[in-house]
Amino acid sequence: MGAVDAHPPLHSAEHLLTAALSERLPGMNNHASRLKSRKCVFEFDYAGELADEDIAWVQQTIEEWIATEADTTIDFVPREEADHLPNLDEVPDEVDLVRVVRLGEFDARACAGMHVANTGEIENFRVTSWRAVGDGRYRVNFVVD
Ligand SMILES: [Zn+2]
Repeated sequence: MGAVDAHPPLHSAEHLLTAALSERLPGMNNHASRLKSRKCVFEFDYAGELADEDIAWVQQTIEEWIATEADTTIDFVPREEADHLPNLDEVPDEVDLVRVVRLGEFDARACAGMHVANTGEIENFRVTSWRAVGDGRYRVNFVVD
């Protein structure tokens, strides 16, 4: 997920968005994102109806997570012990030691990207718009400073 050279606060916010959407919208999957400068376009599949209240919850939840100033931790975990990760399928088969990035207690997933050291470094996370793009797919736009 995310480009290795992406703006670390933006990419870290992408982790939090993925976690928050997964918590709010069970079954959310097939997410994909494009990051450019301080903006991200994030798409995902969801069988239900997304509503403004869901996006408001996600915005509020991520603001609360950021405010905890939780530290990022990075560990290398043997693949056979990494079953709990939501995205182990994205890790190439030949990788035996999986790089696991944890943003506090909020998100843990395999990732090779650059992250903030602490969620407090994510400034002014805001969802700027969202819409359905057809066939149970949704698009959320967000920015950070
Ligand atoms: Zn990452």
